[in-house]
Amino acid sequence: MLFSELGLKAEIQRAVAEQGYDTPTPIQQQAIPAVLAGHDLMATAQTGTGKTAGFTLPILHRLSSGPNDRLTRVARTPRVLVLTPTRELAIQVEESVRTYGKHLPINSLAVFGGVGINPQIANLRRGVDILVATPGRLLDHVQQKTVDLSGIEIFVLDEADRMLDMGFIRDIRKIIALLPKARQNLLFSATFSPEIRELAGGLLHQPVSVDVAPRNTAAETVKQRVIETNREQKKDLLEHLFQTRGLHQVLVFARTKHGADALARRLDKAGIKSAAIHGDKSQGARTRALSDFKDGKLVALVATDIAARGIDIDALPYVINYELPNVAEDYVHRIGRTGRAGMEGEAISLVCHEERPNLKDIEKLIKRTFEREVVEGFEPSAVAAPRPPQPPRGPRKPQPAGPKSGQNRGGPQQHRSGSRHR
Ligand code: AMP
Repeated sequence: MLFSELGLKAEIQRAVAEQGYDTPTPIQQQAIPAVLAGHDLMATAQTGTGKTAGFTLPILHRLSSGPNDRLTRVARTPRVLVLTPTRELAIQVEESVRTYGKHLPINSLAVFGGVGINPQIANLRRGVDILVATPGRLLDHVQQKTVDLSGIEIFVLDEADRMLDMGFIRDIRKIIALLPKARQNLLFSATFSPEIRELAGGLLHQPVSVDVAPRNTAAETVKQRVIETNREQKKDLLEHLFQTRGLHQVLVFARTKHGADALARRLDKAGIKSAAIHGDKSQGARTRALSDFKDGKLVALVATDIAARGIDIDALPYVINYELPNVAEDYVHRIGRTGRAGMEGEAISLVCHEERPNLKDIEKLIKRTFEREVVEGFEPSAVAAPRPPQPPRGPRKPQPAGPKSGQNRGGPQQHRSGSRHR
């Protein structure tokens, strides 16, 4: 199937062609006709499947067709509301709207927290057709009466599962209550949990269901590898991987903000240009890090799960799990950053003794067993190294910078080239 067969307006087709796309992805093939026909939609699709264009293209078509188009409208209040869990995703969705809508007289705006509200207010006043927002900041605008949601015709809830994970359910319900009753609703979620089902039940009317990414399967094009080592050696091993394998544009996942900062500093010191991205960074710092990473000015971007959500980079070649996530499903999200749109990608997980149960959970979830590799000089010791004295239970603490040299308790240090399989 080609984009030209979907019945989208010529201006939209032109913008899509300018992006170099001629074939819609599976989700686009299914979602676009359903949205064009005015149906509600329940889509189970992860980032990387082309879901953003899957809703953006038909929305642009609907907005620019029919009696309510810009020329005949008096008040320019938003007609489409897209809610996203993170600022990064809001920015990216709004960028997509602008990219695909560039030949149409439709304008858009992203509003999110962490930046000044006044420029957003000024932009809202000028008139916006498609508003992309994170829930908290949108409610700020509602409270200040700087946004009018009474003209919303299409409501999109993007990454709904992550919204619930982040505790946005009450905000979402408040926002839905402000929307006109007659509207089209589109819900996107990577997973279809009972909570999502419940949310969908209250929101969607006779939805068309689209399920393109069978739950918890990783892209076929991602090569997934597991390297076993000791916790104390991970920083050295990571540095070694960068230095011996010529890795570039690597998204590195750490569990904690503190850990992400420490790791980025350490890599940077070793001459591997790096930055950290997490919730404590200012919006400016996050945007700058992301654009430096996209432009190739940074070799590594160290991120926490929430910050990395929605990072959309074409052809990201490597993901490294410096630490495994606590929640197995996050693994699927993480490695979904690479191997997109059919490109090759590699996901490497560094796993220490303490994380073996997490690895088992992941293997159970994605229904495959990984081969365990070791890198010479960084082998795990036979038994877990004793942890420094600390309270017996509780959430995992961020590790201090740790011993500088690779004081592994396991194997020889001399031969650090290559990896071997067990
Ligand atoms: P998304 O799942 O929306 O985050 O999109 C993932 C990536 O796929 C984005 O970088 C899009 O620009 C890209 N993309 C979207 N649609 C297509 C398509 N039909 N063909 C190739 N790439 C696409």
